[in-house]
Amino acid sequence: MSRQIIVGNWKMNGTRQDAQALVQALVSDLPATAPDVVVCPPFTQLALVQPALAASPIGLGAQDCHKDAAGAHTGDISPTMLADLGVSYVILGHSERRQEHGELDETVREKAVAATRAGLTPIVCVGETEDQREGGEYEDVLGWQIKGSLPDGFTGIVAYEPIWAIGTGLAATTDQIAQTMSFLRAELVRQFGEAGKTIKILYGGSVNAGNAISVLSIPEVAGALVGGASLKADAFLSIVNAAS
Ligand code: 13P
Repeated sequence: MSRQIIVGNWKMNGTRQDAQALVQALVSDLPATAPDVVVCPPFTQLALVQPALAASPIGLGAQDCHKDAAGAHTGDISPTMLADLGVSYVILGHSERRQEHGELDETVREKAVAATRAGLTPIVCVGETEDQREGGEYEDVLGWQIKGSLPDGFTGIVAYEPIWAIGTGLAATTDQIAQTMSFLRAELVRQFGEAGKTIKILYGGSVNAGNAISVLSIPEVAGALVGGASLKADAFLSIVNAAS
């Protein structure tokens, strides 16, 4: 298996001072044989942490971008601007953006095209609600999200984040993750053929220092997208240490 990737999604948290302290701790304590590691601070902290990360193996990501390179889009940030800052990854279609900003699969797909064109690696999130899982329709929902959110020739990363597992302390079980990962892999192969076999699929949703080893040893799990536990250096580094 190729190297796993551990991505920290800091969401809307922290001052510049917090960001600097966290990055300093990560850079100085990163194990020598670490997997790929990426942190995604809020836009306001990207420029600040970029120099320290650039001098380390840790990659820099953003949490969203617009679908256009420039223009009259008040309050938005373009993928070109992110690339100009030294950003290499961008999370797209996170459930919090789908829910709070009404982002549709089509919007996410357009953003993925734009991000790739700007040289960024998109990390496209999919995930079902608790009702959809309990109602047995989660595979349909995930299938539509994969079909609608990933553009032709997609070369980025997919993150499976069940909405009911985000920020709840209740990660999906290893059986649920394993079964859903196989389903997503089959969907990717159906959509992209041979190329669908190599797209990395991350798991996200209450990954922490205690469950990281069991989550990261599930076949098909290429890494983790970590929210709350990525805000504490020791917790995040424990997850990094659990990866291969
Ligand atoms: P938590 O790890 O806080 O559950 O968040 C997961 C997530 O949404 C990462 O994008």
